Amino acid sequence: MNLRFGVIGTGAIGREHIKRISQTLAGAEVVAVTDVNQEAAKQVVADFKLNANVYPDDKALIAAEEVDAILVSSWGPAHEASVLAGIEAGKYIFCEKPLATTAEGARRIVDAEIKHGKRLVQVGFMRRYDHGYVKLKEAIETGAIGEPLMIHAAHRNPTVPETYSTDMAITDTLIHEIDALHWLVNDDYESVQVIYPKKTKNALPHLRDPQLVIIETKGGISITVEIFVNCRYGYDIQCEVVGEEGIVKLPEFSNIVTRKSGKLSQDILMDWKDRFIDAYDIEIQDFIDSISKTGEPKGPTSWDGYIASVTAAACVKAQESGVTETIELDERPTFYEEGAKTNEVSA
Ligand code: NAP
Repeated sequence: MNLRFGVIGTGAIGREHIKRISQTLAGAEVVAVTDVNQEAAKQVVADFKLNANVYPDDKALIAAEEVDAILVSSWGPAHEASVLAGIEAGKYIFCEKPLATTAEGARRIVDAEIKHGKRLVQVGFMRRYDHGYVKLKEAIETGAIGEPLMIHAAHRNPTVPETYSTDMAITDTLIHEIDALHWLVNDDYESVQVIYPKKTKNALPHLRDPQLVIIETKGGISITVEIFVNCRYGYDIQCEVVGEEGIVKLPEFSNIVTRKSGKLSQDILMDWKDRFIDAYDIEIQDFIDSISKTGEPKGPTSWDGYIASVTAAACVKAQESGVTETIELDERPTFYEEGAKTNEVSA
């Protein structure tokens, strides 16, 4: 039987996920939608010819009998309440990042899920499903490059809207590296410092851009992440892991090579949606298949969402203080020990 999704939030990524569930993936359908903008919710039903009910709010959608799983893709501050209500109702939950906008909020979700007694929640950290990151992790875990010593990463966007603020470089942008990098090297974060290099003339006055985030792990690995959201030339994700015996690096996004007018050239992506399109498909297919096979999702957990929230809060503190800040996590509950650091992708 198909997993029946109710989608909360039909903006940019909500529409993308509705499209992939109803047109690309197997074993699921969208049966309900809601959005604070009811017209947007009705429009998505019409655009994708869904056989779905439009509900006035998240509570009504979560309570609906035909909904087995909720997909939370509303704006970040609304996520925690929807996820908590979903757990209360015993529904499966795929929640886009952030799981919650505060560490305390993410901890409330962790505690509610533990109390429920079974895993219900998967967080939309899709990089763990990206072919390049999966290959990097394989190389690290098979010992191909020896012990990892350093990671150099970069997250570059061509441009950002006027509403994008300095802290969003952490909470909206770095958040994906925060999740992917501790998962890659199977280590916990210890401390963070944020440095502001010379500011680009292309950033608006209120925004510090670029930023350099320096993280130390408990195991002693040094991580540098450049965030540069007005780089102009493209959407570019880089990650290089330096080990004792060698180096592994994310592949360039594959694109045709053109020879023309005395030039050898290759296009660079401009839109984030295109960079991780396969990873989005695989993560949600994995959510559907894991629930069908084992009765629980097995992708990134609420605990991973909690780690991301605590780390992001420390990074924002480091932005403001200019000094090194400690990243203090609660002890990992045994409930999350299996599957929290390993991600066996089934799709
Ligand atoms: P968006 O286009 O602004 O869409 C958010 C939608 O949720 C809008 O339609 C908004 O309505 C609606 N909304 C706001 N508050 C709501 C509430 N309380 N209940 C129901 N709906 C509500 O944003 P987006 O780009 O799709 O992002 C949505 C979420 O996905 C964000 O948390 C974002 O961080 C995350 N995201 C993740 C990735 C990824 O790579 N994994 C990529 C993009 C986005 P209005 O327009 O009327 O405010």
